[in-house]
Amino acid sequence: MTPIRRPKALFLDRDGTLVHPRHYPSRPADLLLYEGIGPLLRGVQEAGLRLVVITNQSGLARGLFTEGDLGRMHAHLASELARFGVRLDGVYHCPHHVEGTIPALAVACDCRKPQPGMLLRAAADLDLDLTRSWFVGDILDDVEAGARAGCRTVLVDLGTEPTPQTRLRRPDYVARDTAHALRIVAAREGIGPPDDLTYQPATWNARHSSMAATDRPTVATTNKRATNADNR
Ligand SMILES: [Mg+2]
Ligand SMILES: [Zn+2]
Repeated sequence: MTPIRRPKALFLDRDGTLVHPRHYPSRPADLLLYEGIGPLLRGVQEAGLRLVVITNQSGLARGLFTEGDLGRMHAHLASELARFGVRLDGVYHCPHHVEGTIPALAVACDCRKPQPGMLLRAAADLDLDLTRSWFVGDILDDVEAGARAGCRTVLVDLGTEPTPQTRLRRPDYVARDTAHALRIVAAREGIGPPDDLTYQPATWNARHSSMAATDRPTVATTNKRATNADNR
Protein backbone atom coordinates (compact mmCIF):
# COMPACT_ATOMS: atom_id res chain seq x y z
CA MET A 1 0.00 0.00 0.00
CA THR A 2 1.26 3.48 -0.82
CA PRO A 3 1.64 5.50 2.35
CA ILE A 4 -0.54 8.57 2.48
CA ARG A 5 1.52 11.71 2.26
CA ARG A 6 0.73 15.15 3.44
CA PRO A 7 0.30 17.54 0.51
CA LYS A 8 2.93 19.99 -0.63
CA ALA A 9 2.18 23.67 -1.07
CA LEU A 10 3.21 26.36 -3.44
CA PHE A 11 3.24 29.44 -1.24
CA LEU A 12 2.97 32.67 -3.16
CA ASP A 13 3.61 36.21 -2.13
CA ARG A 14 0.90 38.56 -3.46
CA ASP A 15 2.22 42.01 -4.37
CA GLY A 16 4.90 41.88 -7.05
CA THR A 17 4.62 38.09 -7.32
CA LEU A 18 1.01 37.27 -8.27
CA VAL A 19 0.01 40.80 -9.15
CA HIS A 20 1.82 43.84 -10.47
CA PRO A 21 3.50 45.81 -7.69
CA ARG A 22 1.57 48.87 -6.51
CA HIS A 23 2.11 51.16 -3.55
CA TYR A 24 -0.33 50.06 -0.83
CA PRO A 25 -3.07 48.73 -3.10
CA SER A 26 -6.43 49.18 -1.36
CA ARG A 27 -9.11 48.50 -3.98
CA PRO A 28 -9.94 45.35 -5.96
CA ALA A 29 -8.94 46.95 -9.27
CA ASP A 30 -5.47 47.63 -7.82
CA LEU A 31 -4.73 43.90 -8.00
CA LEU A 32 -3.71 43.20 -11.57
CA LEU A 33 -2.70 39.58 -12.15
CA TYR A 34 0.48 39.10 -14.18
CA GLU A 35 -0.25 37.89 -17.68
CA GLY A 36 0.53 34.29 -18.50
CA ILE A 37 0.66 32.87 -14.99
CA GLY A 38 -2.91 31.55 -14.77
CA PRO A 39 -2.32 28.38 -16.82
CA LEU A 40 0.99 27.71 -15.00
CA LEU A 41 -0.71 28.01 -11.61
CA ARG A 42 -3.42 25.68 -12.81
CA GLY A 43 -0.83 23.12 -13.89
CA VAL A 44 0.81 23.20 -10.46
CA GLN A 45 -2.55 22.90 -8.73
CA GLU A 46 -3.60 19.99 -10.95
CA ALA A 47 -0.38 18.22 -9.95
CA GLY A 48 -1.66 18.26 -6.38
CA LEU A 49 0.16 21.19 -4.80
CA ARG A 50 -1.90 23.47 -2.57
CA LEU A 51 -1.85 27.14 -3.60
CA VAL A 52 -1.53 29.47 -0.63
CA VAL A 53 -1.04 33.24 -0.69
CA ILE A 54 1.16 34.65 2.08
CA THR A 55 1.13 38.44 2.24
CA ASN A 56 2.29 41.23 4.56
CA GLN A 57 -0.41 43.91 4.67
CA SER A 58 0.94 46.57 6.99
CA GLY A 59 -1.49 49.02 5.36
CA LEU A 60 -3.99 47.61 7.87
CA ALA A 61 -1.82 48.65 10.83
CA ARG A 62 -1.23 51.99 9.13
CA GLY A 63 -4.97 52.58 8.73
CA LEU A 64 -4.73 52.81 4.95
CA PHE A 65 -7.47 50.24 4.39
CA THR A 66 -9.66 47.90 6.42
CA GLU A 67 -10.15 44.15 6.69
CA GLY A 68 -13.34 44.69 4.67
CA ASP A 69 -11.37 46.34 1.87
CA LEU A 70 -8.86 43.50 1.95
CA GLY A 71 -11.64 40.92 1.79
CA ARG A 72 -13.04 42.62 -1.32
CA MET A 73 -9.58 42.71 -2.90
CA HIS A 74 -9.04 39.02 -2.27
CA ALA A 75 -12.49 38.12 -3.57
CA HIS A 76 -11.50 39.94 -6.76
CA LEU A 77 -8.18 38.11 -6.91
CA ALA A 78 -10.00 34.80 -6.46
CA SER A 79 -12.39 35.59 -9.30
CA GLU A 80 -9.53 36.61 -11.59
CA LEU A 81 -7.77 33.30 -10.87
CA ALA A 82 -11.02 31.35 -11.31
CA ARG A 83 -11.06 32.48 -14.95
CA PHE A 84 -8.09 30.14 -15.37
CA GLY A 85 -9.61 27.33 -13.33
CA VAL A 86 -7.32 28.18 -10.39
CA ARG A 87 -8.63 28.04 -6.83
CA LEU A 88 -6.62 29.32 -3.87
CA ASP A 89 -6.46 26.90 -0.96
CA GLY A 90 -5.70 29.70 1.47
CA VAL A 91 -4.87 33.37 1.79
CA TYR A 92 -2.97 34.48 4.88
CA HIS A 93 -2.15 38.07 5.66
CA CYS A 94 -0.20 39.79 8.40
CA PRO A 95 -1.98 43.02 9.43
CA HIS A 96 0.75 44.16 11.80
CA HIS A 97 3.51 46.75 11.79
CA VAL A 98 5.34 48.14 14.80
CA GLU A 99 5.04 51.66 13.39
CA GLY A 100 1.32 51.33 12.69
CA THR A 101 -1.28 53.89 13.75
CA ILE A 102 -3.97 51.36 14.74
CA PRO A 103 -2.91 50.46 18.31
CA ALA A 104 -4.12 46.86 18.27
CA LEU A 105 -2.07 46.18 15.11
CA ALA A 106 1.01 48.24 15.96
CA VAL A 107 2.81 45.30 17.51
CA ALA A 108 5.77 43.06 16.86
CA CYS A 109 4.40 39.72 15.68
CA ASP A 110 5.62 36.33 14.53
CA CYS A 111 3.72 36.45 11.25
CA ARG A 112 5.20 39.41 9.38
CA LYS A 113 7.69 38.08 6.83
CA PRO A 114 10.63 37.38 7.17
CA GLN A 115 9.09 35.53 10.12
CA PRO A 116 7.53 32.21 9.08
CA GLY A 117 4.36 32.46 11.21
CA MET A 118 1.88 32.55 8.34
CA LEU A 119 3.47 29.52 6.68
CA LEU A 120 3.42 27.57 9.92
CA ARG A 121 -0.23 28.43 10.45
CA ALA A 122 -1.11 27.40 6.91
CA ALA A 123 0.80 24.15 7.38
CA ALA A 124 -1.20 23.38 10.52
CA ASP A 125 -4.53 24.35 8.93
CA LEU A 126 -3.96 22.43 5.69
CA ASP A 127 -1.74 19.61 7.03
CA LEU A 128 1.10 20.54 4.68
CA ASP A 129 4.55 19.03 4.32
CA LEU A 130 6.69 22.17 4.51
CA THR A 131 9.95 20.48 3.54
CA ARG A 132 8.46 19.48 0.20
CA SER A 133 6.81 22.86 -0.33
CA TRP A 134 7.89 25.96 -2.22
CA PHE A 135 7.82 29.67 -1.53
CA VAL A 136 7.87 32.09 -4.46
CA GLY A 137 8.28 35.79 -3.70
CA ASP A 138 9.85 38.95 -5.03
CA ILE A 139 11.90 40.11 -2.03
CA LEU A 140 14.49 38.51 0.23
CA ASP A 141 12.10 38.68 3.21
CA ASP A 142 9.96 36.18 1.29
CA VAL A 143 12.98 33.95 0.75
CA GLU A 144 13.90 34.13 4.43
CA ALA A 145 10.36 33.33 5.58
CA GLY A 146 10.30 30.34 3.25
CA ALA A 147 13.71 29.14 4.39
CA ARG A 148 12.78 29.53 8.07
CA ALA A 149 9.74 27.33 7.43
CA GLY A 150 11.95 24.71 5.73
CA CYS A 151 10.63 25.30 2.21
CA ARG A 152 12.49 25.54 -1.05
CA THR A 153 12.53 29.09 -2.37
CA VAL A 154 12.42 30.98 -5.65
CA LEU A 155 13.06 34.72 -5.84
CA VAL A 156 11.31 36.59 -8.63
CA ASP A 157 13.84 39.21 -9.71
CA LEU A 158 12.19 42.62 -9.94
CA GLY A 159 15.59 44.25 -9.71
CA THR A 160 15.04 45.47 -6.15
CA GLU A 161 17.04 43.04 -4.04
CA PRO A 162 20.71 43.26 -3.06
CA THR A 163 23.04 40.28 -3.00
CA PRO A 164 21.89 38.05 -0.10
CA GLN A 165 24.29 38.20 2.82
CA THR A 166 23.02 35.32 4.93
CA ARG A 167 22.22 31.73 4.16
CA LEU A 168 18.54 32.13 5.06
CA ARG A 169 18.19 34.89 2.48
CA ARG A 170 19.80 32.93 -0.35
CA PRO A 171 17.08 31.61 -2.67
CA ASP A 172 17.40 28.13 -4.11
CA TYR A 173 16.59 29.65 -7.50
CA VAL A 174 16.11 33.08 -9.02
CA ALA A 175 13.61 33.72 -11.81
CA ARG A 176 13.34 36.47 -14.40
CA ASP A 177 9.63 36.83 -13.67
CA THR A 178 6.82 34.93 -11.99
CA ALA A 179 6.07 32.79 -15.03
CA HIS A 180 9.71 31.68 -15.02
CA ALA A 181 9.48 30.94 -11.28
CA LEU A 182 6.44 28.74 -11.84
CA ARG A 183 8.21 26.91 -14.67
CA ILE A 184 11.16 26.28 -12.34
CA VAL A 185 8.83 24.80 -9.72
CA ALA A 186 7.11 22.68 -12.37
CA ALA A 187 10.45 21.44 -13.71
CA ARG A 188 11.75 20.56 -10.25
CA GLU A 189 8.47 18.83 -9.41
CA GLY A 190 8.74 16.77 -12.56
CA ILE A 191 5.50 18.18 -13.97
CA GLY A 192 6.97 20.50 -16.58
CA PRO A 193 9.83 20.62 -19.08
CA PRO A 194 13.36 21.55 -17.99
CA ASP A 195 13.90 25.27 -17.69
CA ASP A 196 16.74 27.69 -17.02
CA LEU A 197 17.70 27.07 -13.40
CA THR A 198 20.87 29.15 -13.41
CA TYR A 199 19.55 32.70 -13.81
CA GLN A 200 21.04 35.28 -11.43
CA PRO A 201 20.43 39.04 -11.20
CA ALA A 202 23.16 40.87 -13.10
CA THR A 203 24.01 43.01 -10.08
CA TRP A 204 24.58 40.13 -7.67
CA ASN A 205 28.03 39.15 -6.55
CA ALA A 206 28.18 35.51 -7.61
CA ARG A 207 30.38 34.48 -4.71
CA HIS A 208 27.69 35.28 -2.13
CA SER A 209 24.48 35.25 -4.05
CA SER A 210 23.15 31.74 -3.92
CA MET A 211 23.82 28.09 -4.35
CA ALA A 212 24.66 28.88 -7.95
CA ALA A 213 28.35 29.53 -7.76
CA THR A 214 29.39 26.29 -6.15
CA ASP A 215 26.79 23.63 -5.85
CA ARG A 216 24.00 24.56 -8.19
CA PRO A 217 23.38 21.51 -10.32
CA THR A 218 23.34 21.75 -14.07
CA VAL A 219 20.01 21.43 -15.78
CA ALA A 220 20.75 17.84 -16.77
CA THR A 221 21.65 16.60 -13.30
CA THR A 222 18.84 18.66 -11.82
CA ASN A 223 16.31 16.55 -13.60
CA LYS A 224 17.62 13.52 -11.79
CA ARG A 225 17.49 15.41 -8.55
CA ALA A 226 13.91 16.41 -9.29
CA THR A 227 12.98 12.76 -9.22
CA ASN A 228 14.70 12.33 -5.91
CA ALA A 229 13.07 15.46 -4.53
CA ASP A 230 9.69 14.06 -5.48
CA ASN A 231 10.35 11.07 -3.32
CA ARG A 232 11.40 13.00 -0.28
MG1 LIG B 1 6.00 41.18 -2.80
ZN1 LIG C 1 1.81 39.83 11.90
